[in-house]
Amino acid sequence: MICDFCSVPDPAWRYPADSFHDVFGSRSVEDWLACEACQQLIQAGDRAALARRSLNAPGARMVVDVLGRALALDYCHDLHARFWRARCGAPYRIAA
Ligand SMILES: [Zn+2]
Repeated sequence: MICDFCSVPDPAWRYPADSFHDVFGSRSVEDWLACEACQQLIQAGDRAALARRSLNAPGARMVVDVLGRALALDYCHDLHARFWRARCGAPYRIAA
């Protein structure tokens, strides 16, 4: 498993969430997983730092290449806003 925000392995937290679609129509299916660093940003409500961190994920490099960094950052903000709206319960620690 990887962090759904920054793609590092072995995320420690699970955020209950409903399924939703991103702006391109890709479907996010239910819960999101977060590493310790992303969990701290989420709990702090620091969405700007969370979006910047997500752009450093290996999977985001292609998005950055295609869209450019500014649009990729907009995409991350929008995606995370959708995640925030889809949340449906308190996060909890998952077994390693
Ligand atoms: Zn992370």
